[in-house]
Amino acid sequence: MPTTRCYYEILNVERTASGDEIKRAYRRMAMKYHPDRNPDDPSAETAFKEAAEAYEVLSDEERRRTYDQFGRDGLRSRPGHDFRSMNPEDIFSMFDDIFGGAFGGRRSGGGRRARTRGFDLETEVELSMEEVLTGATREVAFTRLDVCETCGGNGAKPGTEPARCTRCEGSGQVTQAGLGGMFRMVTACPDCQGRGSVVVDRCGDCKAAGRIPVDRRIEVKIPAGIHDGQAVRIAGEGEPPPQESDPAGSGDRGDLHVVTRVSQHDQFERDGNHLLLVLPTVFTQLALGSTVEVPGIGEGEVHSLELPAGTQHGALFRISGGGLPDLRTNSRGDLVAIIHLVVPRKLDAEQRELLEQYAETESLDMDESSPSLWNRIKDAVTGRG
Ligand SMILES: [Zn+2]
Ligand SMILES: [Zn+2]
Repeated sequence: MPTTRCYYEILNVERTASGDEIKRAYRRMAMKYHPDRNPDDPSAETAFKEAAEAYEVLSDEERRRTYDQFGRDGLRSRPGHDFRSMNPEDIFSMFDDIFGGAFGGRRSGGGRRARTRGFDLETEVELSMEEVLTGATREVAFTRLDVCETCGGNGAKPGTEPARCTRCEGSGQVTQAGLGGMFRMVTACPDCQGRGSVVVDRCGDCKAAGRIPVDRRIEVKIPAGIHDGQAVRIAGEGEPPPQESDPAGSGDRGDLHVVTRVSQHDQFERDGNHLLLVLPTVFTQLALGSTVEVPGIGEGEVHSLELPAGTQHGALFRISGGGLPDLRTNSRGDLVAIIHLVVPRKLDAEQRELLEQYAETESLDMDESSPSLWNRIKDAVTGRG
């Protein structure tokens, strides 16, 4: 029976999520609910399969559009895989690219896969805008499956060995007749899952899984200039190859992807490597011209800015090198100060008198009014100016 929860809800993503976000969300769900990690929890396997179903639809642009418009009913004419009846390993091999190529598909031809590689893992860190300027070091904690030291990964109680599988006689494969005997199919042996051997006396620590979850902490350097959503790849911090393809886990480990979340700043708005800042000013500073201080993103960083006489509300001033560093070149973008005129809410008697005197001399130059202001706003919105 197909699942009825909303696919976006299943993957815990917004309806506007990008393809990359959907991919990451699925990887997270699949790792979390993988049956190997949840050996005694049948609901985890259901969640694992639900996530695969949601990912199959949302990762395909056309199917996603259909789903957005017509819901599940719209997909009826193009049914996807029946994940409920598939085994988790086959689901993994379908979405191979997401898991770092951990499962290169089913073995074929009877031999072991030439080279095995473990799962990639993913974790998130949050960075402030200030840390984007300097780069940061973070301790990240994550759980990964490691080879069980008690049994060396083969799942058998120490002192015993896994026995040759009697169903497939050690080959890991069985031949089944398909379509009423019209052709024969070679598939992985269901008794030993293709291993060719079965554990008789189970290892007490890993319950024959050959892998146990281990909590791990490592220090990760996040380079300056990183953007929200970008990941730092730590090679070899992922999992060892799965037991069925490499019991001793001697193949290559997968990688750890540390995805960076950059939090919003209450003063600065980021635009690529540039920063935007609204700068409050008073009327006389703009009318008479003045030198003002503009706070920078760096610790104690202050820029001095010359405002010429007659500076308008909404004017933009570019402070070269006041932005954030480029991830590759490390050269800093600009800081763009947007002039904001603050009109006093209260005047004392003396101020009022002076302003009234001034008002008698004042006239509005219509050439300086609306059109140029609109252009400045448009420029600010499109990032020019
Ligand atoms: Zn063990
Ligand atoms: Zn077998």
